Amino acid sequence: MNVAPVGPEPTHLTCPSCHASIVTRVDHKATTKTHVIALLLFLFLCWPCVCVPYCMDSCRNADHYCPSCNAYLGTYQK
Ligand SMILES: [Zn+2]
Repeated sequence: MNVAPVGPEPTHLTCPSCHASIVTRVDHKATTKTHVIALLLFLFLCWPCVCVPYCMDSCRNADHYCPSCNAYLGTYQK
């Protein structure tokens, strides 16, 4: 459940937890889709390609946190 509407990039908003005006800290997380793409790359291409989807932000969810109080603010899902 998202606390605040967030996009894939760090977002400027007021933290609902500490009420500070902050730019969110973004943590990119691998999703099931990331693993599927990695598996397909491994089957049809070669080993070095497997790490590609893990390096691409577009293949991962973006979790937003407050840099001030570390409160969880929301997730942008691909
Ligand atoms: Zn905060």
